[in-house]
Amino acid sequence: MSEVVFIGTSDAFGAGGRRQSAIFARGERGGMLFDCGGTTNGGLNQLGIERGEVDVILISHFHGDHFGGIPAFLYASLYTDARTHPLEIVGPPEIESRVHTLAAALGHSLAGRKWTFPIHYRELRAGEHFSAGPAQIEAFATQHQPEANPQGYRVQLGRERIAYSGDTGWFEDLPIRIASSDLFVCECTLHGAALDFHLSLEELREHRDELDCGRLILTHLGEEMSHQRGQIEIETADDGMTVKL
Ligand SMILES: [Zn+2]
Ligand SMILES: [Zn+2]
Repeated sequence: MSEVVFIGTSDAFGAGGRRQSAIFARGERGGMLFDCGGTTNGGLNQLGIERGEVDVILISHFHGDHFGGIPAFLYASLYTDARTHPLEIVGPPEIESRVHTLAAALGHSLAGRKWTFPIHYRELRAGEHFSAGPAQIEAFATQHQPEANPQGYRVQLGRERIAYSGDTGWFEDLPIRIASSDLFVCECTLHGAALDFHLSLEELREHRDELDCGRLILTHLGEEMSHQRGQIEIETADDGMTVKL
């Protein structure tokens, strides 16, 4: 059995006073984070999830609300936790250089530090799959700003299959990419308006029958969507929400 804890469920701007994207999934053989937005460390601390439980950080794309929390996660693992077991950071092409550039820009370069644990960066391209920590991970391309190298994922964690959209607008292949998942965590930034690079509730209602998933949970909720939480027919995530699969 797997357990999924939503650490952060807001859009890029902290709509509704919630945290940026991060989802922790705990399987029988270990744990992983789907995205690690800038507010992730505070969220893990508040929810009592130890960083040491995270064996893999899986990044959907290079926007700060999805990978901005990695440098602080690494520093805290080193200086607060004295972590010793390996950490895998999996993401689209350029994952390692993007994290290094980000950390340097934030004022604490990762280079030249005496790490107490191995950090393995692994690039996963759309159409490829490999196993990392407790999971089998498969990547697919999404419809989002191309300069952020956007991807979504299908992850086999123990017996459960979890699909994650990352950030995306609607595209024709999305139903095929997430088909036969037990849980599909899908972004829904907007209520009515349609944008090329984000999904709206209106669009998801229109395509709901095409989505073959045991459970559909909406996240990355913008201001209007955060007010709709719990009042619509499709399930919506909230910070701290826990789901058992
Ligand atoms: Zn985002
Ligand atoms: Zn984005």
